[in-house]
Amino acid sequence: MHATVERVAEARLPTEAGEFRIVGFRSLNSSEEFVALVKGELRPDLPSPVRIHSQCLTGDVFGSVKCDCGRQLKAAMELIEREGRGAVVYQLQEGRGIGIINKIRAYALQDEGADTIEANERLGLAVDLRRYEQCAEILCQLGLRRVRAMTDNPEKVRALRHAGLEVVERVGLEVEPHDCFKGYLKTKKEKMGHLISVA
Ligand SMILES: [Zn+2]
Repeated sequence: MHATVERVAEARLPTEAGEFRIVGFRSLNSSEEFVALVKGELRPDLPSPVRIHSQCLTGDVFGSVKCDCGRQLKAAMELIEREGRGAVVYQLQEGRGIGIINKIRAYALQDEGADTIEANERLGLAVDLRRYEQCAEILCQLGLRRVRAMTDNPEKVRALRHAGLEVVERVGLEVEPHDCFKGYLKTKKEKMGHLISVA
C-alpha cells in the first residue's frame, strides 16, 4: 500500500504518566499533522495497547466534564505506562472535525437542551467528520501489526483492521462516569453505536 503519511520528527517526552517518545507525522495528501505518543519497543509479533485519540481541547486541556475525552486519554497513557509499551495517535481534529468555534456554538445549543447530535444538525454540520485511516497507517509505520484497541468506537476498530492491523482485543477505558457527561455517553451509545455500558 502506498504511504499517505510520513514521519518527520521525534523526541523524548517525559510526562506525569511516565516517559514517552513523541513522534510527529505529516499527511502526504493534505495539510493535516498527527502526533504519536510511543512507549517501549513496538514489535509486530507482540500485541500492544493502542489508542486513536481525537483532539478535544475542552476535555484534554481544560478538564471539561461535558465529555470523557481527557479521562480516556489519561487512562490510555497510564495503561501503556503499566504495560511498558504501546502508542496513542493524537488526531488534531477538534470536535469530531467541526473545529473549536463550531464546537462552542454546539455547546451553546446544548445549554438550551439539545443533545450533541441534534446540536450539530441544527448547525448544519455532519455528526462526525473524522477519518481514521491515516491514524491507523501511523500505527503500522510505528512497526505494529497486532493491537489491543483502547476504544469504544467501532469506526476506529474498522479503520485499524482496514489498515491491516490485527485487533486481538478491544480494551474498554470506562472511566468513572461524571454526572455531567452521562447524557453525552448515552447519546454516543444510542445514536452513534459506541460500545459503552451506561446506567
Ligand atoms: Zn471531549
